[in-house]
Amino acid sequence: MPAADKYLFEMKEDCGVFGVYGHPEAANLTYLGLYALQHRGQEGAGICSSDGKQLYIEKSMGLVADVFTERRLKRLPGYMAIGHNRYSTAGGSSLKNVQPLAANFSLGSVAIAHNGNLVNAAELRSRLEDEGAIFHSTSDSEVIVHLTAHIHGESFRHRLIHALRDVSGAFSLLILREKELIAVRDPYGVRPLSLGRFDGAHVLASETCAFDLIGAEHVRDVEPGEMLIINERGLESLKAINSVRRAHCVFEFIYFARPDSSIFGGTVVNGVRKELGRQLARESSVDADLVIPVPDSGMPAALGYAEESGIPFDLGLIRNHYVGRTFIEPKQSIRHFGVKIKLNPVRKILKGKRVVVVDDSIVRGTTSKKIVKMIRETGGASEVHLRISSPPTIAPCFYGIDTPTRKELIASTHMIEEIRRFVTADSLAYLSLEGLRSALSNPDDYCYACFTNDYPISFPGEHLQQMDLFVGV
Ligand code: AMP
Repeated sequence: MPAADKYLFEMKEDCGVFGVYGHPEAANLTYLGLYALQHRGQEGAGICSSDGKQLYIEKSMGLVADVFTERRLKRLPGYMAIGHNRYSTAGGSSLKNVQPLAANFSLGSVAIAHNGNLVNAAELRSRLEDEGAIFHSTSDSEVIVHLTAHIHGESFRHRLIHALRDVSGAFSLLILREKELIAVRDPYGVRPLSLGRFDGAHVLASETCAFDLIGAEHVRDVEPGEMLIINERGLESLKAINSVRRAHCVFEFIYFARPDSSIFGGTVVNGVRKELGRQLARESSVDADLVIPVPDSGMPAALGYAEESGIPFDLGLIRNHYVGRTFIEPKQSIRHFGVKIKLNPVRKILKGKRVVVVDDSIVRGTTSKKIVKMIRETGGASEVHLRISSPPTIAPCFYGIDTPTRKELIASTHMIEEIRRFVTADSLAYLSLEGLRSALSNPDDYCYACFTNDYPISFPGEHLQQMDLFVGV
């Protein structure tokens, strides 16, 4: 297998990270932080702590609450810790990829928790393997550990900065060593990473909803290209990598981040989502009796749509919260089944009504089709108008959102009218790209690649080939 496609199925992951420095309950706080970030990854969870002398690590496949028993948390002593939730991917499910990844090398022990995806990981990995490196996982994050170990230099920070200048792509990283915690964000700031304060301790999290849970104060974002080093001397900020432009992932606002979080300069996600709904109503109004959300992803946009259009809002679909996200089920057959056990249409609300159904995105189209059908057939709606609070998803993400291959994205191969027929809606409208941009305060600072096919972080030549294989063209 050529090096370029060897790690193909390990390339897509979005995750949640959390870290604490300077608190006697570091591991317990990290557990709570990961709990709040569970939506960012359900495949596996791990925590690594340090008491200033050595690292302790516990990790397993599964949800945070299942992975960490009280006994397990007691095995994580110390005043600093980092934690990680890993997202489920198509083929990369295995314990060896659950983070933090820990390693020992000449400068001591190190553990790493990574959110994002490196686009040149395969290339760097083959180079490192040619030089004798032995990899333990198939995760792109391990490349950073090996690069750091291979670079000559006196200090860890010097080596790490040089390693990070070699990697390309998205990384919001937390790194734990025996006596320090390091946080660093890629120069584009693709994935969020925030700094907070709690009870005299420094805390770091992918999203501020994790700060809310423990009662921490949100201080600021870790800046794109910035490295924070936190140790007994305090907090030091270094400009580690030059940032020429920002490319925050707009899909964090559309779908991924929790609505109660503030990300990318302190913007509340819920506010943006509602504005996307309002804009959608301005662009694609329709005569209807009722606006309903696809829970939970369409909720804020549906509220915005209803507000702007003046059409009454109601909960016409009720979600069973005890079923996992259908999107991440590995087999097509399970996914179809999943929609039925997850959502129930409320006939009393829907019967005889012309219904606007709002969701955040259409990926393959399979969920939307099931939903339209159940609203019409089981719910008894007379008309079903589907409104999507983002532009058509036409291109896969290589920076960390788990999207299928290009050919599986229905909008990459079908016109809107064809998609409407496929999902059997009476009408279908997506938000325009301009409409999406108008809801953001600095629209040029975002990555829209999944809607435009215009990737802000270029891929090395070898990866271009991989992208072709990946997208099946
Ligand atoms: P589909 O049936 O493939 O079109 O899936 C559409 C649904 O998946 C929508 O309700 C979205 O909220 C949701 N969705 C979009 N992107 C993702 C993602 N990366 N992970 C999980 N769910 C997603």
